[in-house]
Amino acid sequence: MSEVRTLKVALLGCGNVGAQVARILIDDAEALASRTGARLQLSGIAVRDVDARRDVELPRELFTSDAETLVKDADLVIELMGGIEPARTLILTAMQHGASVVTGNKALLAQDGPTLYEEADKAHVQLSYEAAVAGAIPILRPIRDSLSGDRITRVLGIVNGTTNFILDQMDSTGAQFADALAEAQRLGYAEADPTADVEGHDAAAKAAILASLSFHTRFALEDVYCEGISSVSAADIAAAKDAGFVIKLLAIAEKLSDEEGNTGVSVRVHPTLLPREHPLAAVRGAFNAVFIEAENAGELMFYGQGAGGTPTASAVLGDLVSAARRIVLGGPGRTETTTGNVPALPIDASVTSYYIGLDVADQPGVLARIAQLFAEHGVSIEIMRQTIHRDADSNVESAELRIVTHRAREAALSATVEAVKGLDVINSVTSVLRVEGV
Ligand code: NAP
Repeated sequence: MSEVRTLKVALLGCGNVGAQVARILIDDAEALASRTGARLQLSGIAVRDVDARRDVELPRELFTSDAETLVKDADLVIELMGGIEPARTLILTAMQHGASVVTGNKALLAQDGPTLYEEADKAHVQLSYEAAVAGAIPILRPIRDSLSGDRITRVLGIVNGTTNFILDQMDSTGAQFADALAEAQRLGYAEADPTADVEGHDAAAKAAILASLSFHTRFALEDVYCEGISSVSAADIAAAKDAGFVIKLLAIAEKLSDEEGNTGVSVRVHPTLLPREHPLAAVRGAFNAVFIEAENAGELMFYGQGAGGTPTASAVLGDLVSAARRIVLGGPGRTETTTGNVPALPIDASVTSYYIGLDVADQPGVLARIAQLFAEHGVSIEIMRQTIHRDADSNVESAELRIVTHRAREAALSATVEAVKGLDVINSVTSVLRVEGV
């Protein structure tokens, strides 16, 4: 290996992920060099506090608080600081100085991806971000490379471990959302401020990235319809379970055509009922998985750890070796193709099935009136199940109705639910949830 060239690698951030990346770069230097065809020399680690204790023992002289100088003198830059600034400016500076960049920063990519991709194109360098979606799971490269000869039609992803842990906990113990969240926080799966996870913002950033690569069109965060899990109740989970479903927070990107043949992509994040036999229903705890449907490949599923310092470092190192090989071989940087030009569809145009729970008066003719209302809105019912309850004190009987519809446009489904609410025999609409995989 004495004649191989050396590539300088600047690391920005030495937290959960950065510390593990530094450890692997040092400990596995020989193996990485033989796979890359160049030595990957860690030239420095930029942090806020150079004297802070780190999870991993690393040479003191590598640390600096001068990130700008570090990136200007690197062949490869790994950004693992998180946040928007100074990460954004440092990535742009690195690329303008000829360095390829590896990042795991989905928040930055979702907010300002186009500026970064354009700069990478202009500077003929690579910008890679496998770690930004589903942590350790190789999903972006399979979409971008392995499936580049196919046509992806639909992507369904469990891409946020915190919400999957909470929903799984609710499903297996019957806990309410607040208790399951507290347990996730106690075990370190949820942050003190869990908003970005539980309201679906983190999954929405990943949905925009998945949709962009899958449909060769740049989708921004504004294109993603987003609903979190904070309003999912223990009763919703129990009713879903009873009907043979599990509730998951899904990131969905799918190509749809209307009656006139116009196509678009619906990109959305919301709690979703899945049949318990669907492969994604088996994804438990804080694990992630992405389910892809492609015209020729058919159904594919990618499963693994969606977070954690060491698993995420694996994805970062994969990107680093790939970018370094490209430097060794020469040739232009490789970015995703954006020739798809399909518009993002509003949520009203998406097509899905609905699960609707209704508390209704136990009177003759109620079922027929409800069924007629669905038919008037062009929504066909797949399953309608009734359970009778008797209030022990008042002795009044009421009926619980559970309806699963066939796939229909969201606009028609929401209009149906509004009309149902107006019927005098309806005591309350207890839940309205979207269903996939039926
Ligand atoms: P972290 O533990 O909070 O570490 C952040 C590091 O960046 C710290 O070492 C910090 O320095 C440094 N830093 C922050 N702001 C800085 C500044 N202004 N100047 C210099 N250094 C600065 O973060 P993480 O969990 O490793 O995540 C890093 C990135 O990976 C994020 O974009 C995250 O979204 C992404 N990611 C993380 C995971 C995961 O499981 N953690 C999974 C997928 C993707 P000090 O230590 O001195 O404070």
